[in-house]
Amino acid sequence: MTNDWETIIGLEVHAQLSTESKIFCGCSTRFGDEPNANTCPTCLGLPGALPVLNWRAVELGARAALALGLHINERSIFARKNYFYPDLPKGYQISQYDQPFSTNGTLEIMTADRDEAGHAHEWKPMTIQITRLHLEEDAGKNVHEGLPDVDRFSYIDLNRAGTPLAEIVTEPDFRSSWQAYDYVNHVRRALQWVGASDADMEKGNLRCEANVSVRRKGDTKFGTKVELKNLNSVRFMQKAIEFEVERHIKTLESGGQLVQETLLWDERLNETRPMRSKEEAHDYRYFPEPDLPPLIVTNQFVEEVRASLPELPGPRAKRFAEQYGLSYADASQLTGDRALADYYESAVEASGSNARATANWIRSELLRELENAGLSAGKSPIPAMKLGALVRMIDDGKISGKQGKDVLVEMFATGKSAAVIVEEKGLIQVSDTGEIDRVIDEVIAANPNQLEAYRGGKEALFGFFVGQVMKASKGKANPKVVMSA
Ligand SMILES: [Zn+2]
Repeated sequence: MTNDWETIIGLEVHAQLSTESKIFCGCSTRFGDEPNANTCPTCLGLPGALPVLNWRAVELGARAALALGLHINERSIFARKNYFYPDLPKGYQISQYDQPFSTNGTLEIMTADRDEAGHAHEWKPMTIQITRLHLEEDAGKNVHEGLPDVDRFSYIDLNRAGTPLAEIVTEPDFRSSWQAYDYVNHVRRALQWVGASDADMEKGNLRCEANVSVRRKGDTKFGTKVELKNLNSVRFMQKAIEFEVERHIKTLESGGQLVQETLLWDERLNETRPMRSKEEAHDYRYFPEPDLPPLIVTNQFVEEVRASLPELPGPRAKRFAEQYGLSYADASQLTGDRALADYYESAVEASGSNARATANWIRSELLRELENAGLSAGKSPIPAMKLGALVRMIDDGKISGKQGKDVLVEMFATGKSAAVIVEEKGLIQVSDTGEIDRVIDEVIAANPNQLEAYRGGKEALFGFFVGQVMKASKGKANPKVVMSA
């Protein structure tokens, strides 16, 4: 029975820090340039070339560490991690080992179980212990062309070699694949939020690995674990974990044995497969990097970085829920990125503090238009002030909600303000009750049978009459006034 088992997951995230130059040389970190265009003797690993630490990488590493609740150590040491691979010209990676940049993180995330369709139910807080966040350099890239053994060519692109990374390692705190999923999304958003990383998985600047094992409930010893690599999206990671948990339970329940191994996720076959053993490295023979002094950060530096951080997404979502009376799911959506959260708050102000209506207009109408246009909130053709003004017009009864939707689409396409569009289209809603009374009289006269039925107790026909009045006024009558007439 699946219910007899407990799943244990620990995660490792590698995030590329968004510096303009590499961590130990002045080469550009730009993505998509000609292969090997951004290289120099240091990142090519040529003899005699020496590394010099890029302080911007330390600042961004500190922003990431503080955003994730870690403690920054005053003194940390760079270490050589030795292994041979074609994309690693020095024969070692400069990383950190027993004295990392930051340790002991406590991070609160929100997580929820999902149903079969993947819908979340009941978001709850959960505390994750982050063991460490350390700084290191990335390796280059091997690019393969053609089929294995048939016209196979392999190339090496060292543009990425020496790009700064933050490696973020958690304790084995996750008990389900969805908790892992929610954590990685939290980390991704937090890193983008504080400007530490673009955290774009498609460009490979956020990568994750998962350690997965299962044990019978009540057991204190961990089961045999596997390491999952090559997880190119958060969703693939979730699927790969789910696949492994099922495989482990099936194997153990049928009396089989598990092997500790490294597995890759095959997104075409939707299954894991073992990594070829030669792709694995076992003994890294770490030792302190003799070419770099210890990294010392002062308390003053840490406090300056802390003071420069914006309000973080978790606390901001909580504040949105409390201050604006939103559900957690809505508040969380509106804090999905920092520009959207800023947009929302400006729009609320311009709407005359109509926080819920503004949230609804953004969530249901604006985000759809943005998505169709492939834009983020920061690039919205409708500025927040103008959206707020539209919400206010609807709230004041100047136009109906239905007209508001058309106006929003027009605003999005033309950049004009709601007031201009309403004026141009002659959309001003009729709230003059004398005018509405006249239309009502016409509608009643035109529908004697329905009137009879309504008087006879068929109250559902009330809606029919309101609809007829709206139609006769070409949607200009204010429904609130019609209903009360
Ligand atoms: Zn270089």
